[in-house]
Amino acid sequence: MRRLVILISGLFLLILTGCRDEQTTRISDNYRTYYEVFVRSFYDSDDDGIGDLKGLVHKLDYLNNGGSSRSKSLNVGGIWLMPVMPSPSYHKYDVTDYYAIAPEYGTMQDFEELLEECRTRDVKVIIDLVVNHTSSEHPWFRSAARSIGIPPCGEDTCVHEELCREHNPYCAYYNFAWEPQSGYAQTPLYEDIYYECRFVKEMPDLNLDEPAVRWEITDIMRFWLEKGVGGFRLDAVTYFYYGNTQKNADFLHWLTAQAKGIDKDCYIVGEAWSTAGVIRELYTGADSFFNFPFSQISGLYIPVVRTGDARQAAARMQEWNDSIREVNPRAIDAVFLSNHDNARSYGMLNRNEDLAKMAASFYILSPGNAFIYYGEELGMIGSGRDENKRLPMYWSAEDKTGIPLPPPSAEFFEPPAFSAMQQMNDDTSLFSHYRRLIEIKNKYPEIARGTIEAIPSENDAVAAYALTYDGSTILVVHNFGETEATQELSNLEGKYKLLEHIGVSSEKARLKGGTVSLPARSSVIIGIK
Ligand code: CA
Repeated sequence: MRRLVILISGLFLLILTGCRDEQTTRISDNYRTYYEVFVRSFYDSDDDGIGDLKGLVHKLDYLNNGGSSRSKSLNVGGIWLMPVMPSPSYHKYDVTDYYAIAPEYGTMQDFEELLEECRTRDVKVIIDLVVNHTSSEHPWFRSAARSIGIPPCGEDTCVHEELCREHNPYCAYYNFAWEPQSGYAQTPLYEDIYYECRFVKEMPDLNLDEPAVRWEITDIMRFWLEKGVGGFRLDAVTYFYYGNTQKNADFLHWLTAQAKGIDKDCYIVGEAWSTAGVIRELYTGADSFFNFPFSQISGLYIPVVRTGDARQAAARMQEWNDSIREVNPRAIDAVFLSNHDNARSYGMLNRNEDLAKMAASFYILSPGNAFIYYGEELGMIGSGRDENKRLPMYWSAEDKTGIPLPPPSAEFFEPPAFSAMQQMNDDTSLFSHYRRLIEIKNKYPEIARGTIEAIPSENDAVAAYALTYDGSTILVVHNFGETEATQELSNLEGKYKLLEHIGVSSEKARLKGGTVSLPARSSVIIGIK
């Protein structure tokens, strides 16, 4: 049935456009290229130094201009908003009200306007959902932490009304203990009572076994999904039941079923900052997880690009994708270079624009959903303390309008070599490279959705793989080396056509007979008939 729908919508678009182009990609499934936004550091609409939702709307054309040819746009299909709910911290990963917008980011009306603007552009908005813990200032915790030290006094003679620990339902929302233990902190009022807080004492862990907490989580998801949010990025899933992967997978399975019961099309991606083995096990509970093992300096993408040694690359990609689809046939790998918790990738790539372009080609042209961290496409840098990784978006070198202040305690602000304005007007810029990659990924649904098969290569600097989706196969070939490389295709059946070429120079790739020649640091898409 789904294939039929895809076929019909594809035919319809073919009639509209007359050729296979970007528009044919609007398959209504959950494969999209996402852009991670830290609202505070993106664009400030009211000049108070803090980025806000109105500012994001103002800059939405940069992310997706709805097909307009008036402006240069990345044309991502999705946006992940880091937490937008009220919170005492600048990063907002400790929520005090799950049903509101942080006042410094704007109003619920601003948020609804953002959703409406995104809806008209077919951009899915997913929001960070932080339910491993609340803020210690959340009314649930304040109430529980007060009552927990008031002993029950019997039903008939209760003098504390709703206040004692037996009568206050919020006491069951958290995990309290009467002895100190690892991962727990002392309650503010009672010396001999402790509460679980795996991160910091300002983030008390919720008791996810408590039915009332699960009802709350369902209500929270319903509230945002009914508002028009397209799904959630789940924070800290390996901490839900600390150290218990099976219970985490079971909880994710429950949560996914609740969310899909409200909106069957919602997209949920989990943050399991863990090993391949743990992530694979969690795929039994949800459909998408960030691919931490392939990210950052010791993952797959960046080391291959830095060393030019791609010998294991395609095989590792196939092995990973096969293994997660074996566990969960609906698995969508969520690939990225780095995020708000990691050093920025441009630094890991020696601040070298050619390397940054190849890293982008490698991960964006991988199966699954690519997640671009804001400013990555400009070559922004930042490492060390977290605030340094979350610096203001560098819109313009001359015009400071809308550029927020750095987060408190950021130690430096070293802008990228070229601003967004400069890079948007330069067809050879890193921004333009990202833009083309997204265009290519949108144009060939095989890349995101396909089953991957590694193709052996004689050349150590080459990674080649076939992607098959809905009966159609394309090949992706990357040359990570500093010299021209060739790849034999003649052992594969069929007729080949060079569909796309993208690289660091204007030199062209050539396809002759069964051999493709790739200039240094470039990639091709080849069709097979
Ligand atoms: Ca503002």
